[in-house]
Amino acid sequence: MIKAQQKPIAEIKALIAPYHRILILGCGTCVTISFAGGEKEVGLLASSLRIASAMEGQDKIFAEATVQRQCEWEFIDAVAEQIQQADAVLSLACGIGVQALAERYPDKVVLPGVNTTFLGMAVEHGVLVERCRACGDCILGLTGGVCPIARCAKNLLNGPCGGSQNGKCEVNPELDCAWQLIYDRLARLGQLDRLAALMPYKDWSKDYDGGPRKIVREDLRL
Ligand code: SF4
Ligand code: SF4
Repeated sequence: MIKAQQKPIAEIKALIAPYHRILILGCGTCVTISFAGGEKEVGLLASSLRIASAMEGQDKIFAEATVQRQCEWEFIDAVAEQIQQADAVLSLACGIGVQALAERYPDKVVLPGVNTTFLGMAVEHGVLVERCRACGDCILGLTGGVCPIARCAKNLLNGPCGGSQNGKCEVNPELDCAWQLIYDRLARLGQLDRLAALMPYKDWSKDYDGGPRKIVREDLRL
């Protein structure tokens, strides 16, 4: 899932400073699971901002709402009236949700309340880790299910680099060396012979460097 972190309150206060009526809009999917922008975080942030506004002698009005998914217009439209009543919408969704709002409501100021950080998962409660860079040409079938692009600090396709020590990455000793993990997985699967072959060139044209990517499913179009 997409992982995100709420921006520091000082940055949020600076973003909303010019506006009087602010709708804080959460998203009930990825950012809820990463504890950054669900209904609970909307409520906590609204309370903090109300207190800060009162202490600073301002009379800002904060409304709250959370939709199931901010990246789909039909869900955003469920709160169209609240959006229209606000001078600005402070979105606690990922960057996709913020842009979906801006596209759907072109005359409305939309502000990001979170920093969208990576595609990842929780390995324990409160600990989120990156697992995928959405490269567009998945090679996990060749690497025992461990991604060297997202998990090797040098993004090596033919690793290891030679600098790992005791299974840890030389760039960040807190991290497991991705290529050590790949080796261990392939050994467990009885597929170590895979490491003898050079990894083929990767098709980077499907990565971000070609500009924003698009998927068209003709079978699903109306
Ligand atoms: S190879 Fe690409 S698509 Fe597959 S997990 Fe890694 S970054 Fe994601
Ligand atoms: S030590 Fe391992 S994870 Fe770190 S850069 Fe080298 S190969 Fe990649």
